[in-house]
Amino acid sequence: MAILPTEPEFEQAYNELATTLENSTLFQKHPEYRTALKVSAIPERVIQFRVVWEDDAGNLQVNRGYRVQFNSALGPYKGGLRLHPSVNLSILKFLGFEQIFKNALTGLSMGGGKGGADFDPKGKSDGEIRRFCTSFMRELGKHIGADTDVPAGDIGVGGREIGYLFGAYRKDRNKFEGVLTGKGLSWGGSLIRPEATGYGLVYYVDLMLQHMGKGGFAGKRVAISGSGNVAQYAALKCIELGATVVSLSDSTGALVLDGAEDSFTPEDISAIMSLKEKRKAITEFSGNGKHRYIAGARPWVYVGKVDIALPCATENEVSKEEAEVLVRNGCYVVAEGSNMGCTQEAIDLFEAERQTKGSSAIWYAPGKAANCGGVAVSGLEMAQNSQRLRWTREVVDERLKDIMKDAFEAGLKSAAEYVETKEGELPSLVAGSNIAGFIKVAEAMHDQGDWW
Ligand code: GLU
Repeated sequence: MAILPTEPEFEQAYNELATTLENSTLFQKHPEYRTALKVSAIPERVIQFRVVWEDDAGNLQVNRGYRVQFNSALGPYKGGLRLHPSVNLSILKFLGFEQIFKNALTGLSMGGGKGGADFDPKGKSDGEIRRFCTSFMRELGKHIGADTDVPAGDIGVGGREIGYLFGAYRKDRNKFEGVLTGKGLSWGGSLIRPEATGYGLVYYVDLMLQHMGKGGFAGKRVAISGSGNVAQYAALKCIELGATVVSLSDSTGALVLDGAEDSFTPEDISAIMSLKEKRKAITEFSGNGKHRYIAGARPWVYVGKVDIALPCATENEVSKEEAEVLVRNGCYVVAEGSNMGCTQEAIDLFEAERQTKGSSAIWYAPGKAANCGGVAVSGLEMAQNSQRLRWTREVVDERLKDIMKDAFEAGLKSAAEYVETKEGELPSLVAGSNIAGFIKVAEAMHDQGDWW
């Protein structure tokens, strides 16, 4: 069996995909794809290693480092590195597994992988982060390369960490190559990469709104969780498009605006960005006095009536109970900026609503599709590195918009082909996106003799 009993997060991600495939007509039409699913559930390779580094007090510290090289049928392994104390093999296998199909949906040549360490960046000095990254790359560097495996950021890994990691690789391997994405602009990075996941999410939701006949973002109330890279740029794009952003959060609690007209402003987001750059909690946000801070909470049950909910923090951050409150309060779009942001129970609730309430139902978009903009622009960064050229902001942004549109339409098309949908019912984006990504990967694996 592909799932080990100690891998609850991977089991959840695998079951979500497998169930949507089972409940569609895919396996009736193509029974051979069951074999492809069985094979694709096991990573091609898992690398585990020790990371020893020295803290500022001169003490030895040790962490567990990993890289899951899950699937390379569509291109070099591609996916972020997560630095967080919760990191373990189950979490990285879930993220790596999702990444395979997400990357397929971008239409670019990227396989799927994920890595990281159970290192906690919170409260660490720049020197400690640098020494950790150098030591981490000393081992990881033996297993990656511009044509082999191209890591990037995820939770706990931003521009600064990518810089230290790239520097360590460059010096150890004596190679300046596009081995990481999310690089600085003067040394191979792409314009729009920092913004890409958040912007792409908003572009995707805009397509959902248009499909539902609800116009664009102007005048909509949007609840966002998280306050890292994805949440920041999703919020900025929502505000730019005329929406009201009524919440943000971090692991310490949520910031919520109650007034009907109140919204976080671009200045508020800049203030939060600089707090987060210093690894500080949102409790330190002084704001304009209009928000309230709810300690230890996620925003969903405190935001009141919202049109759109964008989970942008981490996995399983919307429970069934929170999903019920969102539905009761009239929310009609939930799209994940985070990976596996909703629990299976929350997804089941959204999907049941979709099947019973026709066009007035809530529409759920999985992270695999809705947040693929980040890795998509990573793919564009790889393309620019191969050309040794840099594209303009406008070119990258246009390509990002096109990719989000293609990902959205691929989900709709597969849903129409393989998922029974009653007259007047919105199509299942979770089933459609899973099927579209899966078929692409399964076919490439078959062509290359990975299964037969
Ligand atoms: N960590 C991001 C994701 O979950 C980006 C990965 C990348 O750019 O390679 O998709």
